[in-house]
Amino acid sequence: MSTLRDPFERLLDPARVIDHALERRLYSRDGSIAQGDCGLVVLPETTAEVAACVRLAGELGLAVVPRGSGTGLCGGAVPLEGAIVLSVARMGAILEIDPEVPCARVQPGVLNLDLTTAVRHLGLHYAPDPSSQQACSIGGNVATNAGGPHCLASGVTAQHVLGMEIVLADGEVLRLGGTAPDPPGYDLRGFVVGGEGTLGVVTEVTVRLTRDPAQVRTMLLDFPTVRAAGEAVGGIIGGGVIPAAMEMMDQRMTIAVEAFVHADLPVDAAAMLLVEVDGTPAEVAAHVAVVEEVGARTGARRVRVARDEAERALFWKARKSAFGAVARVAPNYYLHDCVVPRTRLIEVLERIEAIAAEFDLVIMNVFHAGDGNLHPLIAFDRRDAEQVERVHAAGTAIIEACVAVGGVLSGEHGIGLEKRDFMPLTFSAVDLDAQARARDAFDPEGRMNPAKVLPLGSRCGELVLDAGSLPPGTWL
Ligand SMILES: Cc1cc2nc3c(=O)[nH]c(=O)nc-3n(C[C@H](O)[C@H](O)[C@H](O)COP(=O)(O)OP(=O)(O)OC[C@H]3O[C@@H](n4cnc5c(N)ncnc54)[C@H](O)[C@@H]3O)c2cc1C
Repeated sequence: MSTLRDPFERLLDPARVIDHALERRLYSRDGSIAQGDCGLVVLPETTAEVAACVRLAGELGLAVVPRGSGTGLCGGAVPLEGAIVLSVARMGAILEIDPEVPCARVQPGVLNLDLTTAVRHLGLHYAPDPSSQQACSIGGNVATNAGGPHCLASGVTAQHVLGMEIVLADGEVLRLGGTAPDPPGYDLRGFVVGGEGTLGVVTEVTVRLTRDPAQVRTMLLDFPTVRAAGEAVGGIIGGGVIPAAMEMMDQRMTIAVEAFVHADLPVDAAAMLLVEVDGTPAEVAAHVAVVEEVGARTGARRVRVARDEAERALFWKARKSAFGAVARVAPNYYLHDCVVPRTRLIEVLERIEAIAAEFDLVIMNVFHAGDGNLHPLIAFDRRDAEQVERVHAAGTAIIEACVAVGGVLSGEHGIGLEKRDFMPLTFSAVDLDAQARARDAFDPEGRMNPAKVLPLGSRCGELVLDAGSLPPGTWL
């Protein structure tokens, strides 16, 4: 009996074609709460193999979902209706490092932190540092336009991608951008960054590398109220300092993290700020002085400056372990990553607190405070159906509260499946139609990661039977 794997086995080593039910189930998920339905997993190792797999999927009338490490938080890599998952996990080579530009050319499966580790001896690093950087791939970062704590000063992934190679839905290979500062022609590279796998499979990326700063200082400030911490965020930036990073954690999150990291975090504080400044020694000294002055003025109980690199690493371990620490509170979490204007931060945090009370849910906050990128995490147990309903209702209320103050749906995680149906809250029908037509130019038959990013009915005149419905087999 012929199966779906047979034709793909003619393209790839059979060990790189997976159809075991358990493994297909694992590949039906990412870091979000969405559960999909995977028909087959293929693991190509070269651009030519990617192109052959995509072409064959097209001939068989199957959709293709590109996948990096599966750490995405919006269902972007979740396959629907038996789609093929094309994992780039075996495309993990650093192809070239040019310390002069400085830049690196990498395959998409290279893990974010591995790139920085590979160039550390040159006094360089890759600046976008998602908290998942030990696990997430550069290809996934490009596809989601990932951010991270240090993107406040250095910019998100889009600012660090110089060029790329992409396999289109018909198997054609396209090269976009390059190391020239301003490549001529339309900036299609800019369009593909953040394309969430809907425009093709990214098979190679050239990224900018950043020189390490001469000096770094990392501080923990703890506050008796969330309002005071919010005021300090505005005060530091208003005082002329754009820190390398400025992260906030509320008390619930601090308690959960401290139980795991043992960093002597201020568990009795209502909120904690992690502020990092870098530059020349003179700049760093001046910026530390501003942070200390603002802290004193806004009621910080203590400004703890990391004594050495080990303590700095501990502070960051605390921050970057935050999502994992939620497992101490509940088995599941549902996360939003709306961005609000920094001046409205405090009022939105207070509204989120009210939403938690209204829906009788535990919401924990850890987020990129400097750029107003909130991460309210609703801790819950998915086995409790009634609780799941409240989680979705609270999630909708959070999004509406953020949009109402001029916020946007996502700062870095993307739209994927989970935020797709909220797109009309921030985009007009004309905007959505333009985006749908641009997507069609790359993938006219809609084979690449269908049903993601744009809500059904985005194209003018498209018939919508039930805009809220998801394909069978999908669970959110
Ligand atoms: C604990 C934790 C902390 C996190 N912290 C952050 C953070 O600070 N900042 C942040 O931005 N995100 C964060 N994330 C979310 C996630 O890590 C990022 O979105 C990351 O960029 C996803 O990379 P990935 O390799 O796991 O991609 P996947 O989850 O595999 O895929 C994500 C999307 O990219 C597409 N894609 C993947 N690879 C390719 C490719 N080669 N070509 C085309 N499309 C592709 C997929 O189709 C999907 O739509 C966090 C996640 C976790 C679990």
